[in-house]
Amino acid sequence: MARLCFDYGHGGDDPGAVYLGRKESDDVLSLGMEVARDIRRHGVTVDETRTSDANVTLRARTDLESKQEYDYFISFHRNAFMKETASGAETYVFTEASEKSKALAFKLQAALVDVGFANRGVKTANFHVLRESEAPAVLIEIGFIDNSNDNNLFDSKRAEIVRGISKAILSQLGTIYIEETESEQPNDPLTDALNILVKNGIISSPEYWQENARSGKTIKGEYAALLIERMGAFILTKLPST
Ligand SMILES: [Zn+2]
Repeated sequence: MARLCFDYGHGGDDPGAVYLGRKESDDVLSLGMEVARDIRRHGVTVDETRTSDANVTLRARTDLESKQEYDYFISFHRNAFMKETASGAETYVFTEASEKSKALAFKLQAALVDVGFANRGVKTANFHVLRESEAPAVLIEIGFIDNSNDNNLFDSKRAEIVRGISKAILSQLGTIYIEETESEQPNDPLTDALNILVKNGIISSPEYWQENARSGKTIKGEYAALLIERMGAFILTKLPST
């Protein structure tokens, strides 16, 4: 099975970029850990360079990575420039990146652009974590922390960002993304019953019943009468004829 190493930038005494009380180190830790959880649902192992607001040197991060064989090393960051001037997402690979790094970088960049970040492209850099990782490595900058629009996007589309990043990584691993709702949403008995009634032509507006056939709500008398009438007629068709 695939193994990944996730690296959440900064932490501890080093908050990374900060803006109006917001820290890059917190943003990337919380979002990255959500992506890790989402990826693990697919049977993929995800190790992390930190799971709390701790100091971890760049050397310690790549040393941890070198202890195991990973398919990919992914470093999570947020960008900063001059307040409220730059915006968008960008993804980095090492200056002499492998084809695998580049392929993953393009997928991640596309996923971030899909949720609404401006496209700053895939770039190359001689960053420590990209250079010293043994596995193909990428570094993502999930919008600018000193840009209010990017922060709004980061907060309001959080679930989509997590899902987009997971999907991009899993696709690079050749694994199909499984929607969480498909497997974990509990069955609603009303929905099940409505499906049967719709299939048999007894009701034609399930949305109305879905919304109003609930405790504390009211059904219009004429609709209830019509439902009873149609159910009565339906039952009659199923009775043995005499
Ligand atoms: Zn950073």
